Order: sequence, then C-alpha cells, then structure tokens
Amino acid sequence: MRVSIFAVLFFCIGLNATTAIKKPWVSGESFLWFLKRHNISKDLYFNLPQTDKELCAEIIANSKYTVLVDGNDVKQILIPISHKMQIHIRKENTGHSIDFIAISSKTIEKQVLVTLSSSIYKDMYDKTKNRTLGGNLVSIFGKQKFKIMQKGDKIAINYTQAVKDGKTIGSPTIVSAMIEVNKKAYFRFRNPYDERYYNKKGQTSSNFFLKVPLRYKRISSPFSYRRFHPILKKYRAHHGIDYAAPRGRQIYASGDGKVAFRGRKGGYGKTIIIQHKHGYKTLYAHMRGFRKGIRVGKKVSQGSLIGYVGSTGRSTGPHLHFGLYAGSKAINPNRVVRKALKTVLKGKEKKLFDKVAKQQLNKLQMISVSDPTYEPYENIDSSCYRGKS
Ligand SMILES: [Zn+2]
Repeated sequence: MRVSIFAVLFFCIGLNATTAIKKPWVSGESFLWFLKRHNISKDLYFNLPQTDKELCAEIIANSKYTVLVDGNDVKQILIPISHKMQIHIRKENTGHSIDFIAISSKTIEKQVLVTLSSSIYKDMYDKTKNRTLGGNLVSIFGKQKFKIMQKGDKIAINYTQAVKDGKTIGSPTIVSAMIEVNKKAYFRFRNPYDERYYNKKGQTSSNFFLKVPLRYKRISSPFSYRRFHPILKKYRAHHGIDYAAPRGRQIYASGDGKVAFRGRKGGYGKTIIIQHKHGYKTLYAHMRGFRKGIRVGKKVSQGSLIGYVGSTGRSTGPHLHFGLYAGSKAINPNRVVRKALKTVLKGKEKKLFDKVAKQQLNKLQMISVSDPTYEPYENIDSSCYRGKS
C-alpha cells in the first residue's frame, strides 16, 4: 500500500480554497458504483494492486466521507476505511489519482469514578457517554463479580480514547480498573506487551473461546444436527450458529490461534478457519471481506478483527455463520466447555508488567481519592482473578 506524505501536504494546501462537505456513504454501495456516480473512471480501481483493491472493499458501513469542492468542481474525496486510514481521490489535469492516507487523531487518557446505582452498563454510560465501557469491564472482570455488586459500590477506571475534531473515534481501551465488591477492591491491569488483563500478581485467566465473535442483531439459526434449509428446501444439519448482523459489521477471532484457511469455501462463501490449541477449530463464513493482512499461517489473538459480515456463498442475507470443531466433529459453540486458560507472568515479562501495574495502581487510587464521598478501601485484593474469588 502506498501512503503518500505528499498527498497529506497537498491536501493541507488545497484545503484553503475549497469547501469540505460530509456525506453519508450510501448503504450497500460498492466502491465501483461510487466511482461511476461521480463520473470517475473505473480504471482508477482496476489499476490498483490486489492488496489496495481489497482495501477499497473495506469501506465502513454507515460511515461518512468528505468531498472537497471548489464551486461545483469536486477536487478531492476522502473515504474512511478504518479509524486510522482513508482512501484519497484527487482530481488531476488528466483524470484522477488515488492513494491511501492516514487519518490524524490524538489519544487522550480519561479517569472515571462511578458509584453503582442501577447497572454497570447504564451507570458507565451515564458517566462517560460511551456504550462499550460497561461491557468491556464485564468481560475483564467476569459477569460473576457484577452480580454480587451492590448499590453504592465503586468502580474506578483509567482508559484511553482516540479523538479527532473533538469527536471520539473507534473504541476506548481500558488501561486499568478497580471494582469494589463487598468492601473488597479488585484490580485489573492491561499488560501492554500482550494486551491482556492481569491482576496485581500478574495472573490472568481468560476464556478459551469468546462465545460470540461479533455484535449481532439476533440469532437467525441455532446449532442443530437437523434443520430445514431455507434455500435447499430440505432438512440438513446446521453445524454452527447464524448471527444476523448488518453488512460490514466487524468479526473477531474467538480465541488465540493460527489462520488455517482463508478464501472461498463452496456454500460458505468467503470463509476463515482458525486453528486453536487442543485440536479446536473455529469457522467464520459468508464474510464480505477479510481484514487486510489475514492469510494462512498468520497468528491471531482472541478478540482481534479478522473480517466483516457479508452474504457470500449460499446465504439469504448478511449474517455470520460461526462454527466450532473439536478435531473434525462439529460442536455447539453455546455448549462448549469454556476451558480457562491461566497465564502467570514470569521473569522479564513480570518485571515490565509490575512497572505498569504500579503506575496504574497510583492512578486508580488518585481517582478514588478525588471523590470526597469515597471511603478508601481497606482490603486490597491480590489473589483473585477472573473465575475465582
Ligand atoms: Zn449457518
């Protein structure tokens, strides 16, 4: 991929003479249709190297693109393909040029103290206006802890968020968190070296598999060994779960592993298979496209982006077919033994982590102290981690 520094420069100079108009990307429109609608030659796309073509298929659903006009003349078009990168089309004397440029943003750090009054999701949203932080906390500490929390219990978090033009972009990242349960404080710290969350002792226990690898609307077809197939009009087993979700919705790796297959697979359409430890495999089908750089042999970590929801192959609408296999046997992802994967940091890794954890612990304590109604916790948990308490 060519990322042109000159393009950034020209863009800055060109900006003065032009007006920027933001427009919503037409739902379901392809890049080629977009070019046609703007009277831009399709060769602009066809002359691109394959990897850049793939980038053009990654335009985010419901995103806004920017048109820079001089009078009625469209000078430049900027289309975001991720929170970091955008397609840049520029009118030249002889036609149009295309390249990919970075979206500049800055990362800010925020500290929040929340007193539980209704639910972790609602309280966290009321305080931060961010809808994902509550869910992130639950996945970091485990559901169990929040079930026994009571009104008045405190939650302190330190998180980072990318911001552009005063607006937040992408998802926030929790750097450290403290929750109070029955007058006990529990801590989690994000280890920047593996992006996992550990307790003060440098221990973690995460689920082997994410139960659900995307944010979905509804389950359109459950796992079964026998079901009526809407297209083939006959009974067939359904060795996976179908999650209906909008086209372009992000799909995440369910567990750590290695990509074993990436490509078209008959009725499954565009498919990724990930090989995990202990002989398990997960399969993701009907995808619209793959994340750039995903290829056979590539290591992926749990929760990392692998591709986007589509309707390729034998499919009646955009959804993800998610399958789980033990060896070659299909198993119900909903019933899977949720093997805990315990990791304990040691040696040099532990030292690096301890440094981060110490800084973060100070920050969390500062957040707590900043609230005049807050009584400092006496009992600081050090041995508890997710799944145990
Ligand atoms: Zn299916």
